[in-house]
Amino acid sequence: MSPVIGVLALQGDVREHVAAVSSCGLRAVPVRRPAELDAVDALIIPGGESTTMSRLLTTFDLLEPVRARIRDGMPAYGSCAGMILLAAEILDGRPDQEQLGGLDVVVRRNAFGRQVDSFEADLQVDGVPGGPVRAVFIRAPWVEKVGASVEVLATVPPLTLTGTDAGAAAGRAVAVRQGAVLATSFHPEITGDLRVHALFCGMVREAAG
Ligand code: GLN
Repeated sequence: MSPVIGVLALQGDVREHVAAVSSCGLRAVPVRRPAELDAVDALIIPGGESTTMSRLLTTFDLLEPVRARIRDGMPAYGSCAGMILLAAEILDGRPDQEQLGGLDVVVRRNAFGRQVDSFEADLQVDGVPGGPVRAVFIRAPWVEKVGASVEVLATVPPLTLTGTDAGAAAGRAVAVRQGAVLATSFHPEITGDLRVHALFCGMVREAAG
């Protein structure tokens, strides 16, 4: 049977991820309860607000169950706030915000600062064939430090699409993978380009054997 991908549906752009996975040919279902988590083979953690999602994970009794599944090797993909939740450590987070873990990285929340708060750039992403990916960043994190088993798949180019100098952001890691866990600072679910989701669906199929 083909694997089913859950999309954590506590907050954020859930529908867009469900649609993107469906377009890649796998079934996607929203996950709001532990029983729904038990029924999926992989999990997407969408963009939104990581502090809010952290709070809702606790309220909905999902924090420990999701942590446990990720520890046990369930494939996971986090975009933006999802990346923050998967990271081992956050800089500029709220002191009470909880981590799901899974990615041996340090991320900086809202890293790009006011001037380039939201912007687009074309990124070369390793593992994604067919040319650069249009990346939309919305109050995004960047990855400030990676552990030895983390692959950096993409970094910020020196210029954004509007020609703004990326400044201190240039060269920062914005797409990473560690085993079955993938994360992007940007939001491929809103551009109609399915290639990052196709990469994740491939990882999920591989894990399912
Ligand atoms: N800044 C948000 C956070 O801290 C993430 C923004 C996003 O997901 N677009 O969670």
